[in-house]
Order: sequence, then structure tokens, then C-alpha cells
Amino acid sequence: MTGRRPLRAALKVLSGDAAARHGADAAAQISELEAALEMARTAIEDARTANARLREAIEILPQGIVFLDSEGRYVLWNEQYSKIYHRSADLFKVGVRLADTLRVGVMRGDYPSANGREEEWIAERLQKLTSPRERHEQWLADGRCILIEERRTSDGGIIGLRVDITELKEREASFRLLFEANPVPMYVVSQTGKTILSANAAARNHYGYPGTDMIGRPVQCLHLGEDSGRLDQLYSSAPGILADHVWTHLKRDGTNIEVAIFSQAIVHERTPAVLVAAVDITERRRAEAQVTYLAHHDPLTGLANRARHLEHAEEMLTAIKESGGIGASLCVGLDNFKSVNETMGPAAGDLLLQAVSRRVAKTLRQGSKAARLGGDEFGIIMPDVAEPEEVSVVARRLIEVISAPYKIQGQQVTIGASIGIAIAPSDGAEAGHLLKNANLALSQVKLRGKGAFRYFEEEMNARAQERRSLESDLRAALETGGLDVHYQPLVSLSTGRIVAAEALVRWTDHRRGYVSPAEFIPIAEEAGLIWALGDFVLTRACRDATSWPEDVRVAVNLSPMQFRCGNVRDMVKAALTATGLAPGRLELEITESLFLDRSNHVLDALAELRKLGTRIAMDDFGTGYSSLGYLCSFPFDKIKIDRSFVEGISGNVEKQAVVRAIVGLGETLGKTITAEGIETADELACLRSIGCEQGQGFLFSKARAQDALLPFLTKRKPKRVA
Ligand code: C2E
Ligand code: CA
Ligand code: CA
Repeated sequence: MTGRRPLRAALKVLSGDAAARHGADAAAQISELEAALEMARTAIEDARTANARLREAIEILPQGIVFLDSEGRYVLWNEQYSKIYHRSADLFKVGVRLADTLRVGVMRGDYPSANGREEEWIAERLQKLTSPRERHEQWLADGRCILIEERRTSDGGIIGLRVDITELKEREASFRLLFEANPVPMYVVSQTGKTILSANAAARNHYGYPGTDMIGRPVQCLHLGEDSGRLDQLYSSAPGILADHVWTHLKRDGTNIEVAIFSQAIVHERTPAVLVAAVDITERRRAEAQVTYLAHHDPLTGLANRARHLEHAEEMLTAIKESGGIGASLCVGLDNFKSVNETMGPAAGDLLLQAVSRRVAKTLRQGSKAARLGGDEFGIIMPDVAEPEEVSVVARRLIEVISAPYKIQGQQVTIGASIGIAIAPSDGAEAGHLLKNANLALSQVKLRGKGAFRYFEEEMNARAQERRSLESDLRAALETGGLDVHYQPLVSLSTGRIVAAEALVRWTDHRRGYVSPAEFIPIAEEAGLIWALGDFVLTRACRDATSWPEDVRVAVNLSPMQFRCGNVRDMVKAALTATGLAPGRLELEITESLFLDRSNHVLDALAELRKLGTRIAMDDFGTGYSSLGYLCSFPFDKIKIDRSFVEGISGNVEKQAVVRAIVGLGETLGKTITAEGIETADELACLRSIGCEQGQGFLFSKARAQDALLPFLTKRKPKRVA
């Protein structure tokens, strides 16, 4: 470019010359020229400034920018452009052809998609350059992805934009992976057409559509019986909260599944769509249903459990509160179940409980609900009772049905049933209270002879309380030596001599006074005190008997419960050893209820006792279950005829017939027959005439303390008989 000074000098020469020749004209020309020059200078300055601004502007941009002239030669590029193609950056020079730098890059392996087809690739690339239309992506060898956009400029050149979209591409890839490889079935539905646009592998497998079979189908093909309003809502731009809804979906093979759906509006390939994740909850729902079932049912019998039973009672009470009427709560206890369980094993016990449950369920009328309350106890709720007699009919029927024989593991088993009944709402307007009272009524049945039913009475509450206090006092008496043993003589009816004495436990409580063993023995049995009590009586009786004449035996009562809770033989043996009593002088009294067990265990225990040398007597014969079969199942030494057959026998031919039959049986089988509870001379005379061998009763003597008994024994005849 020409400097200012030489121009001025030239102008001066020119102007001097011109002034000489042309004067003022020349001066005017010069000044015009000067003005033009000034303008040119300004224009150049402006262009420089503009160029600098353009550079600054393109440097600020985050994208790479390149300007090429119409021949494809570099004109201008920014720093970002050099960075993107940093491997070729040293080649970028004004006037260098892009085609040449491309070729260098291709040969160096900068463009993986060009490998193996280099020339072709370069041609394609230059083609795009000369006829730029769309954006395209270019992968570089270092793993980056560049988005390229090129435009023609007005002077035939090209302006090119480069954006590094590697991160975007990675995000897109991970999203695709997240979708396609997700184990949760997912699909995309167009909002407008409600057709399936895309489905991941899990969805395709789950619904049974191979390949692209699912694509393009109307989404209704996945739904079963869903109203269109809800479908529209699900596949709309704002799916909203439908999370609680359980959808029924249809697989291609026609099976139904239950699904929970999570949805989200998205744009799928420029189409407004909804992305749906469908979680199959069929199994979970089944498991939940199972858990609910288990929470409310007894797993062994399938009947409702205690918790559900309480709900049944609550439902009944609510109905009664709303519409009146009465209902009933029955508490059923199985008699003798425990011994079956013990002797035949718990598996047999389970089978028996299942059989009982089936019978109970079959016996109930419509609307009644049965439950197993645990162990051998069942509960029944009977709503809509017109009159209490209806409940009695059901209770009677239940006892009958449950008491019929069962066949368990090839063996015949018989049990009984006792039932306590509480009437709603009078016996309890609150469920827990009602059930408790039915249970209380049941325990009264059990105390007073099983195999029956009883209605709850208000006094039972007081009685139950009294029972608890009796139990604790009895326990204390047992521990502190508050119990005593008295002896009632057994007399030979032919000679009048005392042949034995029965040991009877005695308890005089400081508060209650005399308490009958008939009252406290059942309590001792239930409270687990019978073993200690029995041991005490046995040992004391054996010891006392050692000071009696040698031909006087001692009789001791054994409760069936003692056979259940311990080894009776060992206890007896220990008592005999400790006291030195000859085994032949000990007579053990058992009752028929012991044989309800029908178990070999009892027979074995009795056989062992007999082997020790003790004698076995069947007590209270003729009461309870009275079966001659019991007499055959074990060889007893003695049969004691119950007091009920003796009372008033002289005027009662039926009783005489029964006693005569038993006496005959005794003679035939070689067993001693004893009549219990002889109170009058008439009774004694009658029994003598029938040929009864021994007798016991108030006519001869009440039970006496050892001291009071001894003088009798030495005289060998009770006063009254003498
Ligand atoms: P049990 O074995 O039948 O005993 C006979 C019961 O009848 C005794 O009542 C006796 O006092 C009573 N008795 C005797 N003669 C007459 C009579 O002429 N008329 C009347 N009305 N009663 C008479 P107790 O002592 O009240 O015993 C009742 C029951 O308690 C006994 O009946 C027995 O089952 C049980 N028991 C008593 N002591 C024991 C014991 O030490 N162990 C066990 N396991 N049970 C016992
Ligand atoms: Ca007895
Ligand atoms: Ca008796």
C-alpha cells in the first residue's frame, strides 16, 4: 500500500507543476483526488474493522464455522473449527482446498466410515458440499460425532457450521438402551392415532409379538374391557395419575394379565406420544390374595381363623344394631381330642381336625360361619336367629355329628363335642365380649360333664372368677401341706369285716371351709396340679396303710389325667418302695373315661401296674360311657357299682336287675363286685340278697382320718354292722 508522505510529495510536485500550467483547475482536481483517496482510506479502515468484528463474532460462537470460496478453498474459520478438526488444523490455510485436507484426513484414517472406500467417500462428501441441503452427521476416529450444516453464500462460496454432538449421541444411545434392554415391558403410543409406535424387547416377549409385529397396531389390542374414556386419558398428552388403577391386559395368546401402568407424555420421532411402562402384577396380586387368605383362614382346615371369627361376630352385631333381631355365638370344644393326638400322633390329629371341620361346615345352615379358633376349639357365628331353640337344635346336631366315629389312618376313632352358647346382643354387644362368654359357657360344660351344650348365664362370670381363686388357693394348699387324706372302709357284706379302705383327699380351706374333692379335683386336672396331688395322696395312703393289719388293702383313686401327664407306673413303684407297702395291698381305682382314649398306651400302663403286683378296680361302673367292652379290654380285679344304682335299690326292680347282672358278670369273670354309697339297711339287705360281695357307704362309715380309722381296723368291724 502507498504511504501518505510520498503521495503528498507527489501531489506537491503535481500541484506545483499544474499551478504553473493550469492554475486553479489543477488545484481543484488535486483536491478531488485527495478527497477520493481519503474515502478509500476510510473504506479500507471500515473493511478492516468489519473483518475484525466478524472474526470476533465467529470466535464467540460455540460452533465451528468455516467459510470457503466458490472453489472450495479456505477463506476464514474460527478457533472452534480448528479444535474440532485438531488433527488437520495445521493444514488449514487461506487458499488451501478443503478437498485436499479431507484427503489427508481420510488417508490418515480420521473418518471411520471412509475406511475401505476412501475415494467414494471423498466424492460423496464433496457432493454434499457443492449441493448442501440437509444436515448430516460425521463420525471421527476418536469417537466424536460432528453435526455438519452447510449453506451457499450469495457470492457462490460456502459457509459451514460444525457442532460436536457426541454427548447428545451418547445420551440418545443410553436412552435407547434403557428402553430396549429394560426388563420392564415398555411401549410408545401415538397420541393422535393411538397406535403402537415402538415396543421394547420385554414388551414384545411379554405380550407375545415377535419382531416388529406390535408396531402399528391399535393399542386397544392390548386392553381388555377398558372403557374408552379411561383409554383416552391414558394415551393423552397429560396421562395424569392412574397409578392406582389395575389394568387388564391381553396377551396375543389370549391370556389375561393384570398390570400397573406408569406413563409419560413424550415426543417420539417428532410425533406427540405416550411412553408406557406396564408392570405385570398378576403374580403379586395372587400372592397378595393368598396373604389375605392366610391372614383370615386356618391353614389346616381352611376354615376362618380366630381373627376372622371376631370379624364375623362384629358383622353380626352391626347388623343386629341396624335392623334388630338376635344371633348366636357358639364355642365348640372337642372332648378327648388331646388323647387321640397324643396316642396316634399329630398327623392323625390333623386329619381328625380336618374331618371335624368338614362335618361342622356341612351341618351349618346358610349364613352361619364356622371358624377354627385354635387347638381343638371351633367357633360358629349364627346370625338371624328367630328363637333360641333354633340354636339348641344346631348345637344338638353338631354334637351328634361330631361324635359319630371317624376312620383315621385305618383306625376307628371316636371323640365328643361340648358347646357353649352366647346369645347376641344380650350376652355381649361387643364381639370380644360375646365370644368370651360363649367360651365361658363351654368351660362350664366341660366342668359338668362333657358332650353337652349350655347357654351362657351371667353367674358364669362370677363362677369363672371363683374358679380362678379356688385354683390359686388349691395350689397354695398343695405347696404348704394344707391337704389331708381320709379313709372310707370297704366291708365284706358276708362277714362284715373291713377288707380295705379308700383314700379320699380332704381339703379344708381357712376361708371356704370344707371343699369337696368333686369340686376341686377337676380344677386340679385342668390347672396341671393333679400329678402332684395324686402323688401326695398315693404316698400318704401307702405309708398310712403300712400301720394297718396286713390283710386290709388301701384303695387309691387315679385320674385319667395322671396317665396323660406322666408315668404312673414309676410313681406307684416309687411310692411302694418309699413306704415298703406290699404291692398286693394297693388297689388302684380308675374310671371308664380313661378308656375313651382307646389307646394301647393306657392298656400298657395298666398292664405294667398289674405286673408290679397292684390290683386294678373299675370305679363308678354303670355311669358315663358304660360299655361292657371296657371290661373285656382289660382284666380288672374289681368292679365298683356306682352309687346311683344303689340308692333306693330295695324298692326299684330295674336297679336290682342291673346290679344282679353286674354281680353275675363278676362271678363269671372272677371279679370282686363292690357296691358304693350304701346308706340304708334296706339297701344293704337288698345287695346282700343279690349276692354282692363288698360294700362301701355312710351306713358303715364316712371317710375318717388315719387316727380315727385305726381303732376300727383293730376291731375289724365298723360299729353299725356289728
Ligand atoms: P369316688 O371315687 O366315687 O369316691 C367315693 C365318694 O362317694 C366319696 O366322695 C365318698 O365320700 C362318697 N360316699 C361314700 N359313701 C357314700 C354314701 O353312702 N353316700 C354318699 N352320698 N356318698 C358317699 P368324696 O370324698 O367327696 O369324693 C368324690 C370324688 O372325688 C371321688 O369319688 C373321686 O372321684 C374323687 N376323689 C376323691 N379323692 C381323690 C383322690 O385322692 N384322687 C382322685 N383322683 N380323685 C379323688
Ligand atoms: Ca373311688
Ligand atoms: Ca365311685
